[in-house]
Amino acid sequence: MKIIIHGGFFSESQTNQEVKQAKQQALKDIVQAGHKYLLSHTALETVVYTVRLLEDCDLFNAGTGSQIQSDGKIRLSASLMDGKTQKFSGVINIEEIKNPICIAEKLMAYDDRVLSGKGAKDFATNNGVAYYNPETPQRRHEYEKKLSDSIRLGTVGCVALDLYGNLAAATSTGGKGFEIPGRVSDSATTAGNYANAYAGISCTGVGEDIVSGSVASKIVTRVTDGMPLSIAADKTLDEMKPYDGFAGIIGISADGKIYHADTHPYMVWALHDEDVEVFE
Ligand code: ASP
Repeated sequence: MKIIIHGGFFSESQTNQEVKQAKQQALKDIVQAGHKYLLSHTALETVVYTVRLLEDCDLFNAGTGSQIQSDGKIRLSASLMDGKTQKFSGVINIEEIKNPICIAEKLMAYDDRVLSGKGAKDFATNNGVAYYNPETPQRRHEYEKKLSDSIRLGTVGCVALDLYGNLAAATSTGGKGFEIPGRVSDSATTAGNYANAYAGISCTGVGEDIVSGSVASKIVTRVTDGMPLSIAADKTLDEMKPYDGFAGIIGISADGKIYHADTHPYMVWALHDEDVEVFE
């Protein structure tokens, strides 16, 4: 059993030690909780549970505490992939709900498994999901100060390998911040989140770059074709260099290897293998 999580990129690291420590502690606590859950649940159930905890932590740009878009609204995107069945589900730009990953989980049971905008919100409402405002005073303050010039990415993700050898991946985001309404993140696409029987990958970074590199699905394809996870990930991230692609990945392969890598410092991550490890 293995689990790895990420909390996106950490731009505050250069200036704010307090935020860094808070994120490290949150990741440590959440990966421990996720690992405990994995002892008696499947990889699919565990990635949903763990990403939900990350969405509820307002330090990260997913669920509560998501960034506000250019028109003053928050829109959430999340996806889930079951490596066993290779089913993918997700929501794109859903508004006024607490946990987009839980809507993605509900959609797993349907033929139409990726919903966007109003359709996604109507589906959530029809399934008894209550209104929720994910905005925090901190994000409103940032928005009002128009801090759009600095990168403040804090998407979350989780990959798990369960007792039965099955893999799953989940990713959730509030987007990259100050985007044009309607912009689609990579996080609810197979470029940002992918799993099969051989590997699972969750990405963070600039969605446009991740889609251009088809990052998650490409790494998983390479592992499927026999390449070790670390080499597949490094090769895929290297291929983003010509356009200075900005991305970070976490992954697990079916042989139990865990890997994380980024094109730019610092993606924040935590894993539970033999013991807990957190980014420094
Ligand atoms: N990938 C996300 C997006 O572009 C942002 C992030 O990872 O922080 O929407």
